[in-house]
Amino acid sequence: MAIQETRWRPDTCTCLLVYEWDSLVTLTNRVHTFKRADVICPEHQSLLTELDAYTAALENNQRKNKTVNYVNTQLAIDPSSIIFSFSGMGNDRILNIEFTSAVVLTNLQKLGVQQWADTNFGVGKVIVQ
Ligand SMILES: [Zn+2]
Repeated sequence: MAIQETRWRPDTCTCLLVYEWDSLVTLTNRVHTFKRADVICPEHQSLLTELDAYTAALENNQRKNKTVNYVNTQLAIDPSSIIFSFSGMGNDRILNIEFTSAVVLTNLQKLGVQQWADTNFGVGKVIVQ
């Protein structure tokens, strides 16, 4: 056991969260264990516990990362051309995806991203604009 502590601020909200992990465990088997929230952002403050806030912040961040990665790998669009934002509160935050003017997507390409997001996260969780 070599317990490490990481303070994490997601790029999807202003929560400041602390989790533990064991540096002797291989990367593929490593588990992050929530320890505490130093800051809970306004969007996640309505949730009941610090663990609920961590769980929601982590899900929001992973949903954004997976969507950006999908657009990057499937449509060969550089992540810097993808603009993301969130609306909504608590467990009902909606990820909004837009593109910079450097990117021209057809309606069919946008529909493809929207359908992938609906299938993977549920209808209404990601809005492709
Ligand atoms: Zn947050």
